[in-house]
Amino acid sequence: MKKILLIATGGTIASGNTDAGLTPTVSGEELLRAVPGLKNICEPHAIQVLNLDSTDMTPADWLVISGAIERYYDQYDGFVVAHGTDTMAYTAAALSYLVRRSPKPIVLTGAQKPIHSENTDSQVNLLDAFAYACSPGSCGVVIVFNGSVILGTRARKVRSKSFSAFSSINYPELASVREGRVLRYIYLNYQKPPVFSHRLNDSVGLVKLIPGMGPEVLSYMLRRKDALVVESFGVGGVPSEGSRFFDAIRRGVKAGKTVVMTTQVPNEGSDLTVYRVGHRLKTDLPVLEAYDMTTEAVVAKLMWILGQTRDHGEVSRLFYGSISHDMLYTEELPHEG
Ligand code: ASP
Repeated sequence: MKKILLIATGGTIASGNTDAGLTPTVSGEELLRAVPGLKNICEPHAIQVLNLDSTDMTPADWLVISGAIERYYDQYDGFVVAHGTDTMAYTAAALSYLVRRSPKPIVLTGAQKPIHSENTDSQVNLLDAFAYACSPGSCGVVIVFNGSVILGTRARKVRSKSFSAFSSINYPELASVREGRVLRYIYLNYQKPPVFSHRLNDSVGLVKLIPGMGPEVLSYMLRRKDALVVESFGVGGVPSEGSRFFDAIRRGVKAGKTVVMTTQVPNEGSDLTVYRVGHRLKTDLPVLEAYDMTTEAVVAKLMWILGQTRDHGEVSRLFYGSISHDMLYTEELPHEG
């Protein structure tokens, strides 16, 4: 039987009721005990590395999780990370960069209802996550939730209450899990040992444009952060406004800051050169573009890249190098798969 390690971090799945609302109280061992069927499919063990509402999770906590995976990597056949749903997509993206090309599956899951509440989705999500972790051919970082298997770089929380909380953005789901059976649509093939990274630079900001806003927020963020992600409209661009947005971004990149343009539209990504409002950013400035990447993946990838280098050429090379299928648009560039 495969040995699978549950890495418990908190979240609704591990929460109990208090006067002030739900908060994580249930341990990893208790989660395993609450799903006795797990013993029929594998030899499960649990460790508790954090016990947080994922709203409180930081990039330092992502390193704690990847550190636990690295420490126990040789002793287990796969890993299930029990995690709050609110920032699970960010953690899944971060783990995709911190543990690259893992031949052993790293499966994040959680729930919209606590494990000990009635009509919870916790049990089925844990069972599905372990079933996927045990299934031959599973590898890399994924989220298993409500029967869907979503690549770690492609997940987004799209519903705040329903069980179908996650979608795969601009990429098909890898598989489904139905009553413990894995129906695989896409095969990943990682054979060599994984590549672990140990550094993140969390000086990354995100600004979402709204109609009528001025460029001051951009300037403010660019003074304080090493990188700024700008979620603009449609396929991308910034308000013309007598060039004030363009100038704010130009000053930022001149000061050595990394700027990534992306879109607040949920699907299909950016294409900056289509309209005049975006064209000049791309042709006249060394601004990067997210294309079909999720914002969660852009943020995590920038933290991972800036943990290694601030050299613009190197930042750009790493950003456009596809990792775990986080970006499709630049398939002609070298990528790790
Ligand atoms: N606030 C919770 C969390 O992210 C929500 C959940 O787990 O569903 O930790």
